Amino acid sequence: MVLAELGGKLRDSLRKLHTSSGRVTQTQLNAVLSDITRALIESDVNVKFVMTMRDNVKKNVEQLIEKDDDDDDDDDDDDDANEQRRQRRASNVSKLVQKAVVEELVRLLQPQRKAYVPRRGKPNVVLFVGLQGAGKTTTIAKYANYYQRRGWKTAMVCADTFRAGAFDQLKQNATKLRVPFYGSYTEADPVAIAEEGVDQFVQEHYEMIIVDTSGRHRQEAGLLEEMQEIAAAVRPDNTVLVMDATQGQAVNDQAMAFSNAVDVGSVIITKLDGHAKGGGALSAVAATESPIIFLGSGEHFDDLDPFNAESFVSKLLGFGDVRGLMEAMKGGDDGKSQEELMEKMSKGEFTLRDMYSQFQRVMNMGPLNKVMGMIPGMPDYLIPKGTGDDASTNRLKKFLYMMDSMTNKELDGKVDFSDRSAPQVQSRIRRIAAGSGTHPKEVEMLLQAHKQFEGMVSKMGKSGLVGKQAQARQ
Ligand code: GDP
Repeated sequence: MVLAELGGKLRDSLRKLHTSSGRVTQTQLNAVLSDITRALIESDVNVKFVMTMRDNVKKNVEQLIEKDDDDDDDDDDDDDANEQRRQRRASNVSKLVQKAVVEELVRLLQPQRKAYVPRRGKPNVVLFVGLQGAGKTTTIAKYANYYQRRGWKTAMVCADTFRAGAFDQLKQNATKLRVPFYGSYTEADPVAIAEEGVDQFVQEHYEMIIVDTSGRHRQEAGLLEEMQEIAAAVRPDNTVLVMDATQGQAVNDQAMAFSNAVDVGSVIITKLDGHAKGGGALSAVAATESPIIFLGSGEHFDDLDPFNAESFVSKLLGFGDVRGLMEAMKGGDDGKSQEELMEKMSKGEFTLRDMYSQFQRVMNMGPLNKVMGMIPGMPDYLIPKGTGDDASTNRLKKFLYMMDSMTNKELDGKVDFSDRSAPQVQSRIRRIAAGSGTHPKEVEMLLQAHKQFEGMVSKMGKSGLVGKQAQARQ
């Protein structure tokens, strides 16, 4: 995807600071910042934002340069010490520019407003809005799939009465996913359908009720009015705006129009897998001031990735896990929990919950074949060979769904799964499979993988290898 190109350009510019011969001058800094600015604008990121970002980065970094210059004056007579200080300063400035760029990009992608978190055991009505062709109906199916696979009682309502075939498309997806749906071939009033559908599913105690709306209307202003009427009728807990990454800067106006008409609570950006520059849709988030919750990365039901701004930026810039890096810089929780895990592993302890958090880390970090091997004790057959990441990603995702369906006791190693033929173990396996939409055989595979993992960790613990790695990290 084209965003990868942007990542490459940003990396190249930042690298220029590394190779400079010990001294970071104002001119070099300006050159690097103008490279970064150009790369972002070429990727359709909003110009106003890019300028603010440049100014902020500059302000932060210049402060450091001035401070170091003052220090420098103290002992002009020692050339070696000065040279060392320059080297150190160059590396500090480069790290600081990098950190400032990361923070600014994260800030762009992470508005103040927090995403709505659906609650279990109550009806969560989620209204999807967006222009025709943005990928709304497809995204609804992916979203339904996401929650259904995690054991949520999910249903879909089609309130798009404008586009012929809209109901059929939703029905087809719902049938494939085995998700109940509501719609009508004869009723022409979208507000009535939305209300009836939502009422029915609320009465039937559905937890996730997803409403599809039209992307076009007979008159231009009519669409937004229709959204307002539907929103007033179903009183959604969350309104999700679906935006197409291939639309460039144009999505900014759309985003503004929708968010002025209805209370857009979150955003999903689609088609980031194609030739989209992506920057337009990403910066439109600033216009709605609503967080991105998922990115669409293909046409299949599984192609929906939960969005985390820091992980996204870290992948974009190819820094690996910037979140971990930033947390480590700040000495925050993430670094600490990883240390705790290392400590546990050095004693040979490794529960399903530990495996879960490791897999999640990996999923957030980018090219699987690169990072999987970095996890201590990762069984060989789980590490993808070459670039064919898909199968391994899907297997990991399935493993995560299964672990999502486990109880705390199971995750924390308080349940003995070793006798697979015992009726109580069999019944747990069946429950986990049903909760995660997988086959009991797959759950057995997960348990087998964990056993292997655990065995290896135990061996490594005894060898003292993990302890040494943990120390080396500090
Ligand atoms: P709607 O009019 O907004 O409901 O749009 P649809 O859901 O019908 O999607 C329009 C087209 O975009 C369809 O061909 C989808 O398969 C395609 N599409 C939707 N989301 C994605 C995505 O994330 N990636 C890709 N490559 N195509 C997508």
